Amino acid sequence: MKFRPIVAGPVSETHRLSNLVDILLKPYISKVKSYVKDDIDFLKYIPETVPENSKLIYFDVTNLYTNISHSLGLEAIEYWLDTFPELIHKRFNKNFILQAIKLILENNNFIFNNEHFTQVKGTAMGTKFAPTYATLVLGFLEEKLYKETEKHISKDFSNYLQKTWKRYLDDCFIFWIKDTDELNTFIKILNDLHEDIKFTMEINNETLPFLDILICKDKCNIITDIYSKDTDTKQYLNFKSCHPKHTKTSIPYNLARRICTIVSENHTRDKRLDELKTTLKLRNFPTTVIETGIQKALQIPRSQLLQTQLTNTNDENIIPYVSTHNPNNIELFTNLKKNSFILNNDSVMREICESNKFIKSKRQPPNLKNILTNAKFSENKSKTFKVTKCGGTKCGLCKYLREGEFFNFNGKKFFVKQNMSCDVENVIYCLICNGCGKYYIGQTGDKLRMRRTVHAQQVRDPSTRKLPLSEHLDICCETEPKFSIFPFYKCFSKQLSARLVKEQFFIKIFKPPLNAK
Ligand SMILES: [Zn+2]
Ligand SMILES: [Zn+2]
Repeated sequence: MKFRPIVAGPVSETHRLSNLVDILLKPYISKVKSYVKDDIDFLKYIPETVPENSKLIYFDVTNLYTNISHSLGLEAIEYWLDTFPELIHKRFNKNFILQAIKLILENNNFIFNNEHFTQVKGTAMGTKFAPTYATLVLGFLEEKLYKETEKHISKDFSNYLQKTWKRYLDDCFIFWIKDTDELNTFIKILNDLHEDIKFTMEINNETLPFLDILICKDKCNIITDIYSKDTDTKQYLNFKSCHPKHTKTSIPYNLARRICTIVSENHTRDKRLDELKTTLKLRNFPTTVIETGIQKALQIPRSQLLQTQLTNTNDENIIPYVSTHNPNNIELFTNLKKNSFILNNDSVMREICESNKFIKSKRQPPNLKNILTNAKFSENKSKTFKVTKCGGTKCGLCKYLREGEFFNFNGKKFFVKQNMSCDVENVIYCLICNGCGKYYIGQTGDKLRMRRTVHAQQVRDPSTRKLPLSEHLDICCETEPKFSIFPFYKCFSKQLSARLVKEQFFIKIFKPPLNAK
């Protein structure tokens, strides 16, 4: 069996650098002629009519992210940097950007079964700059495509291609207006652009999906509908979910707005809106919230919906006040905003406040998935640990130390989480009376060997006794040693308070009979 490891980018050391490279490369995307931002953006390029004999064709790049060799990637980025040097941010230069990309690409390492591996080709999954990078690499190959089609098909066709060949990452779409011979030439040119980049094709005379849009050709006319895969279970956020209220109430409007924008025919649109109502009711949305959202979307004419891009707020003029969302928290933002005038007393702060806008921003608290999943694969979890005597000839604890992997607290087995011996410190231990077998739970920051000495002293000499335990041991057991010790939990923190909390926790769950007075 063959495996393809998916290297997770977001937790890696190069993650922040990847984010910076993404910011530096973003301006170049507007220079890629085929680029579409999303499905709504793509609608702008769908003509109302096409020649009757034209075909709808969809191309897909096979495994784009993992197939871009580092050399092709760097060549492509260098091409864009050289062609539009004015787009390089003034605080950086070409060499920095190329070196940064090289560093990110060449350090795709991961650990499996305690062995280190490096991904030698392509980008890591989820690394921030990958989509921008892939878009620019294909954009670079497309520049070659325009030249080759001009040479092998015609200049007119090359011009047509530059206007109508549209691509979102690895998904490409075109209305094919030429005949089959030219299509075969075109496919050959596409697959010859680079040895690593291969395209698969889907062709249809009448209807084809692209992104979330179903494009249908009726003779010359093009109509559009919303497209969802059979596997789409429409798991929209449940209205009962613990999210800020405005997040939930905006969902019906945004979904309805999407339908009104994408679906070109009114009767289909109304059908899709009815389906939306049913779906949202199943997700516990109140009818009034759904209706309000739908009506708000219906009031905007479609021509306007197609034109208006959702406003791109300028990130540079915003100061977000970020807090983790919890409905029980007191909303601090309102107070913060009310009192922000205090900042105007300082000249530097006044300048910042006047040129920036404060906004409220909510961070999602970790959900069950975040808590339960872990990208690291470790074998150590099934390993067992134990307590063993140190065996030192002068050790005063060895003959008192009970060995083993666990302690049985009245039927509740507690397994130790690491190997421990006589010199363990910062530990919660259990002391067992060798007369009656009852136990006591205690803690110590010192070495356990030292702690044994203190207990022994208190058993021997009534004047030094601080614990009722000592008297019990003296009376209950007639032979030496009067007690045994089993360390069962080592604290990570060296602080007394942390140890006391742990000790109290174990006393509460294991109810040691000898701790009671
Ligand atoms: Zn020992
Ligand atoms: Zn006893």
